[in-house]
Amino acid sequence: MGKQRSTSETTPAKGNNTNSPNIQMILLSQIKVDENQPRSEFDDGKLKELKDSINANGLIHPITVKETGTNRYKIITGERRYEACKLLKLGKIPCMIRESEDEAKIFAMQIAENISREDLSPIDRAHSILKYRKIKGEDTEWKYIEKELGISETRRKQFIRLLNLPEEIQKSIVANKQRNKKTHITEAHARSLFIFDGDKRIQQALYNRIVNRKLNHREAMDEARLFFNRTKRSAKKAIAVEVNLNIEYKSRDDLIEKLRDYANTLKNGGVVAKKSSGTKIEWTTETWNPTTGCKWKSKGCDNCYAKKMALRLQRMGQIDYRNGFKFTYQPHRLLEPIHWKNPVMIFVNSMSDIFYDDMNFDYVDKIMNTINKAPWHVYQLLTKRADKMVDYFKNGGVLPQNAWMGVTVENDETKSRIAKLRKVKAGVRFISFEPLVGDVGKLNLKGIHWAIVGGESGTQARPMEKEWVINIKEQCKEQGVPFFFKQWGVHNEEGVKVGKEKAGSELDGIKYKEYPEVLKNTLIV
Ligand code: SF4
Repeated sequence: MGKQRSTSETTPAKGNNTNSPNIQMILLSQIKVDENQPRSEFDDGKLKELKDSINANGLIHPITVKETGTNRYKIITGERRYEACKLLKLGKIPCMIRESEDEAKIFAMQIAENISREDLSPIDRAHSILKYRKIKGEDTEWKYIEKELGISETRRKQFIRLLNLPEEIQKSIVANKQRNKKTHITEAHARSLFIFDGDKRIQQALYNRIVNRKLNHREAMDEARLFFNRTKRSAKKAIAVEVNLNIEYKSRDDLIEKLRDYANTLKNGGVVAKKSSGTKIEWTTETWNPTTGCKWKSKGCDNCYAKKMALRLQRMGQIDYRNGFKFTYQPHRLLEPIHWKNPVMIFVNSMSDIFYDDMNFDYVDKIMNTINKAPWHVYQLLTKRADKMVDYFKNGGVLPQNAWMGVTVENDETKSRIAKLRKVKAGVRFISFEPLVGDVGKLNLKGIHWAIVGGESGTQARPMEKEWVINIKEQCKEQGVPFFFKQWGVHNEEGVKVGKEKAGSELDGIKYKEYPEVLKNTLIV
């Protein structure tokens, strides 16, 4: 039996029992755990190890408590030691009493202790950091929080970033030593998933691969790079294989149907077009980037996703992004769509702007040339540079029949782009109200064939007000323009930040997914 189990110990008077006036032997029954502390569970194995150690050597480090009443104490730090002592059925344990700490300070000490131990669930840790900031006030500067918790800005961001991962994956993230390779991943593995922020399907596929193959975190990172280095098409194939491994089915027909459903949802955007004959065609949205890079143009660019992605790809050593987000011609990509044999819907220059200030019109001609040479696809061209767009078409530029032209309108200030779009001869002229960051007021939608509305995503995302969306929806209805409500972004209908998935794409309980008439009736099989 260890010395802590002696029953002859009694409670000495305050300040009389140890070398430090703040340390006392306190009855376990007088100590309560802090229900607000960051840790939600303990690892049984580690608790047993600690119990055995205390049994053999005694409790060497006192726990820290705060007095909450006469002979009543609440744990500040050392809950694990306390739990181990309880298992040993000890009568009293040494406690360091801190009287003056406020609740926020206590919480900060608890988080800091758990961070230094490195055995708190990484997800609990991320939530507790956010909770601490909430306690201190949402406008508290992060640098203050970081100082209090003794962590750097980079670590704080890495910790919190885990909460962007799909919830199912979050549940499987555990501290390193608690990992069961069949079901768990660690924080280090999660870093390989960060590369695909915003693409939950790829994250899920990569996660499946990590656990199915019991990869360590370095192998996981190599695997993530492989995903990136494949063409988008073959990457999708790989994802399908991974995800399909998890399909449960009752019969062959059942399996085939489920595989088909999966394939459809994997096709990014999963646009389903109906021909007049009623035959269903699934359109895959592809991206094609014959140029990359761009610069801020208007408020919609404040949190540019393309910029973040380009810089990430640059850090990963992707050769096409060697210049980061600086405008760069990618002539080796000019003919890509010609090699894609199945008809798809292609978003041109998702990582740039087709009419970027430095874009040479001869190069735009080459892009149009490819569009002409691969007429089995539909191409969506979108710009924030409406003046340059008008210039191009005024100076001999011709938009192929299978290309749609659109402008982004993110608020009232950018509405003048619509009148400029009307000047372009195009089968489909569309407006992307995304990210909608302000009310657009009254709209003239004459000559416009399609309106898409969407909110902003990402950590700095601005909320989109419901009234702004309804205003556009009503005007589309009045003026006969198909209305496609893409998503709320990370803020929901009430403007609360809940994440993209939870916020969804319903407007008063209805999903609006209308398409331009031309797609329904006339486009290619
Ligand atoms: S125009 Fe588009 S690609 Fe260019 S900075 Fe703005 S949001 Fe980014």
